Amino acid sequence: MSENKWVVLLGAPGCGKGTQAEYLINQYGFKTVSVGELLRSNRETIVPELGKTIGEVISSGALLPDGIVLDLVRKELKSIGDLNGVNLIYDGFPRTVGQAEEMDKVAAEFGTKIGYVLNFVVDDEVITKRILGRYKCSNCGKIYNDFFLKPEVDGVCDVCGSKEFDRRADDNEESLKKRLSEYHSKTSALIEYYTNSGALRNIKADADFEEVRHSVLESLNLIEGEK
Ligand SMILES: [Zn+2]
Repeated sequence: MSENKWVVLLGAPGCGKGTQAEYLINQYGFKTVSVGELLRSNRETIVPELGKTIGEVISSGALLPDGIVLDLVRKELKSIGDLNGVNLIYDGFPRTVGQAEEMDKVAAEFGTKIGYVLNFVVDDEVITKRILGRYKCSNCGKIYNDFFLKPEVDGVCDVCGSKEFDRRADDNEESLKKRLSEYHSKTSALIEYYTNSGALRNIKADADFEEVRHSVLESLNLIEGEK
């Protein structure tokens, strides 16, 4: 019988945890429990109960009554069926210490625990460069970055030769700074909680994809440690 790995991913916007989660899902058969998706797919019952639009509900995820969120998670877990040996990633949840405490109880009901909390640590400065420097080819969609990945010939797409590029308009430095500082203040208590539970693993996430993947796999005991 294999162990259930129940994994929580923590990290600021732009830390790269989504890409690593995708890898675990595709290569290691992890399933994902996304509270955002659960809220969206259960909007008919939740919205009348709260008297808010689903957009408001999702964007204020941390402010949702814990009971509603935990019931959704519990229902979703039951719908998976036999959880023996099923590895799960919790995406965007828990957001508060209260939710984390409740989630520990839910895990115990299923005979397991949140054993791995991967905390993707990236300097805010690096995140800022990743997000604000990002642009893509309007023609083929190839992603570039002013700081990390420029086309070989300035202003010409390596892949298709197009000279047209798109930048996201909604990211400016001021709003990003605000989002990052909100993230840190909301998450510090959660980090402390999982440090105390012994589940927290810090992932140095400002390295390249392969290196980050390596430390993710190592932290989850999916490969033998090297070095
Ligand atoms: Zn292109």
